[in-house]
Amino acid sequence: METKNLKIELLSLGARVSGLDKGRKAGAGPAAGGMFLFGNTVANVPTQSWFVSTSPYSVETESENGDGRYIIKRNGERIAEVRFPSAKFQELKTREGIPYHKIALLHGADCLATTTIQTCVYWNTPKRCKFCAIELSLKSGATIARKRPDDLAEVAIAAKKLDHVTHVTLTTGTTATPDKGINYLAESARAIKEATGLPIHAQFEPPKELSKIDALYDSVDTVGIHVESFDREVLKEVALCKAEIPFQHYIDAWKRSVDIFGDCQVSSYVIAGLGESNESIIEGSKLLAELGVYPFIVPLRPIPGSMLEKEKPPSPDRMYYIYEEVAEIMHDEGMSWRKNKAGCVRCRACSALPDFE
Ligand code: SF4
Repeated sequence: METKNLKIELLSLGARVSGLDKGRKAGAGPAAGGMFLFGNTVANVPTQSWFVSTSPYSVETESENGDGRYIIKRNGERIAEVRFPSAKFQELKTREGIPYHKIALLHGADCLATTTIQTCVYWNTPKRCKFCAIELSLKSGATIARKRPDDLAEVAIAAKKLDHVTHVTLTTGTTATPDKGINYLAESARAIKEATGLPIHAQFEPPKELSKIDALYDSVDTVGIHVESFDREVLKEVALCKAEIPFQHYIDAWKRSVDIFGDCQVSSYVIAGLGESNESIIEGSKLLAELGVYPFIVPLRPIPGSMLEKEKPPSPDRMYYIYEEVAEIMHDEGMSWRKNKAGCVRCRACSALPDFE
């Protein structure tokens, strides 16, 4: 099976990794998934959602004593060898005793990722994004509410040294302040940049006053401003806070960001499987690509505990069609994940669009 086909199958169907403690721990990552390295790619594969139990995919060890190689199997048949990225830095603690893994995690093969502010102004309101789980990991004690810039710098130094991390993703819950969390992202990015020089990606909701984005200019290399869906009715249903922002405001925020950070350095998550049509995703992605914005198309990830936990991701066939169509658009517009300096687009574990380019 071609690597890109296997990746979309795994992203949509998930894989059972029961009994593979080593693989599971090493691959622990965002949104109840595991980081799988296979072929020439990396995938953030659902391993804990309900539908995983019906997936034809499983991971097993090849040797009898369990210390051998890991193999992805489809209905018991050997498909590919898989590795799990190691994250030695995640075993350390700060001087105050905060475990590094509560401050930041390894995402994909070589990206250090964290949510700088783990609370969101919309969480306890009807405006909350139904696919989001930002405060769940806080409640479970897996992370801390606010990561101190000094601690982030310390963790980044260790991640670079011990695990060869090459870039950083910073996201944030939306704050009640007009900057929407951008100022704290800038402060955090500055500390990491000064300590490590690593390229940094920051994600945020577009602020009303777009000049607030300029605060990231000297510390951040790429940004993500996520529209999630181009179907405004769908958005109203699943992410009211985002639906209340006029689409034109997203366009203006993307344009301003492309002016600041450059072509292919701005991205937007586009979630497939929220009830939208293929055309909405393809047309919307075309618009993004024409602006120089990378459409980071992902299948819906029904995170356990989130309001969409009982949903199912779209089928691999549907994702295949969308990725093929959009990859052609990317080609025509001269867009590529390879040009992107940091963050989700460079990591590519959650989307197979880069694999279709
Ligand atoms: S694509 Fe983004 S969210 Fe997904 S694993 Fe990579 S850095 Fe994390």
